Amino acid sequence: MSRPKIVVVGGGFAGVECLHRLERRLAPPEADLTLVTPTDYQLYLPLLPHVAAGVLTPQSVAVSLRRRLRRTRLLPGGAIGVDTRAKVCVVRKTTGEIVDVPYDHLVLTAGSTTRTFDIPGLTEHALGMKTLAQAAYLRDHVIAQLDLAAVTQDPAEREARLRFVVVGGGYAGTETAACLQRLTTAAAKRYPRLDPSLIEWHLIDVAPKLLPELGDKLGAKAMRMLRRRGVLFSLGTSVASVEPTKITLTDGRVLATHTLIWTAGVAASPLVHTLSTDTMRGRLVTTAELTVPGVDAVLAAGDAAAVPDLAKGGDAITPPTAQHAQRQGRVLADNVVARLHGTPLKPYHHRDLGLVVDLGGKDAVSKPLGVELSGIPAQVVARGYHVMALPTVTARTRVLVNWALNAAAGDDFVRTGFQAGRAARLQDFELTDAYMTADQVEERHHDEPKNELAEHKKHKEHREQKEQQDG
Ligand SMILES: Cc1cc2nc3c(=O)[nH]c(=O)nc-3n(C[C@H](O)[C@H](O)[C@H](O)COP(=O)(O)OP(=O)(O)OC[C@H]3O[C@@H](n4cnc5c(N)ncnc54)[C@H](O)[C@@H]3O)c2cc1C
Repeated sequence: MSRPKIVVVGGGFAGVECLHRLERRLAPPEADLTLVTPTDYQLYLPLLPHVAAGVLTPQSVAVSLRRRLRRTRLLPGGAIGVDTRAKVCVVRKTTGEIVDVPYDHLVLTAGSTTRTFDIPGLTEHALGMKTLAQAAYLRDHVIAQLDLAAVTQDPAEREARLRFVVVGGGYAGTETAACLQRLTTAAAKRYPRLDPSLIEWHLIDVAPKLLPELGDKLGAKAMRMLRRRGVLFSLGTSVASVEPTKITLTDGRVLATHTLIWTAGVAASPLVHTLSTDTMRGRLVTTAELTVPGVDAVLAAGDAAAVPDLAKGGDAITPPTAQHAQRQGRVLADNVVARLHGTPLKPYHHRDLGLVVDLGGKDAVSKPLGVELSGIPAQVVARGYHVMALPTVTARTRVLVNWALNAAAGDDFVRTGFQAGRAARLQDFELTDAYMTADQVEERHHDEPKNELAEHKKHKEHREQKEQQDG
């Protein structure tokens, strides 16, 4: 008898944690383990703003999968569709070749992409902060604006190049604005022709508060810290349209700028829409045991999945954080093993430990286990948390050494140029256009779509339309 094939899609927090545990819990003859992954590293996303700011090298937050996973087969590519009836995952390899990967158990942990809205010009001109390439691109772009502003004779162009706009007042947007603002402030000293007072950072959010995840007091503290550093806030406001050199806000103001950084939330990987199963707020609905109802042998977790939050109760789902994804990864593994061994599955239950927000230097706010901290104590907790959460000793050492180096020697403001000239739209980095439709997946393996499946699809489309109408 052949060994059961366990296929995991996505080598992020949930996927890697799941495989790491499966390697320990299953003897090699018990199952074949495969990871479908476009890269050979696990990205430690919470420190991505430090890469954009040049505080950390890209390698420090890219944890080698081959160091962490010893016997999992890494399939370089992205899943573009899942046929749950044929039990096949359709994968586009990095060479462009499309292959069918059969599975006995499928674990979907493909994470999320930048959430966008129907705002004219947004997807063409906004820059995102979800991948290593985006962080490196953003760094080069910001430094390039300083270089160009320093040589232009046109005051209007100089002003626009020195104005940077970040949309999204959650932790990703706030940390990105804070870290890059520090970069431009420090860099300005090396540009004798630039008046540093012309550098302007704007943080915009449609919500009335900054960092709502941390509560009113800490959100207000973070705002005060950033205001002291010159960051301008526009809360309760959004973007009406985006053009290459200006954005128009919903309150009618027009900001001349060459830089719009868009971090206004995440949307589940488009892969989830290739299955004909239910979604909630765009995420794949799962049970508390992380199984996907209505299909056989599929589990899901992390940002891609709507996992019931048993600690909160009601119809709450777990927020899209690394803290949850990593812990869900372990339950995924335990439940795949339970399925193989015919033992009961266990539900995912985790009480949120809080959040840390590193604003650079001595500025930070954090709320570990409900305790509100700001300034240096919050920064110690934030950095300590990240060091502990990094999955390998090598990664921890790299990050610590880089932080120390940066504190001692500062930054060199070097534009690497590796990505110069590349298409830089959100979909170019995040490959959101690469997926099959549910119908294409169906047609690939079946001549006749199953009647119940067609009915289910119709029902699902109707529900999704209603969800959209209800906002
Ligand atoms: C800037 C920033 C800061 C953050 N800070 C924090 C923080 O401080 N604390 C916190 O808890 N969370 C934080 N988060 C959120 C956290 O990073 C995510 O919630 C977490 O990464 C989700 O884990 P995941 O395993 O679901 O997805 P990911 O870790 O994103 O992994 C998904 C993986 O799937 C791969 N993939 C995508 N599509 C496919 C496909 N079709 N086929 C195969 N592979 C695919 C991706 O390349 C990726 O490797 C932050 C996020 C960002 C962007």
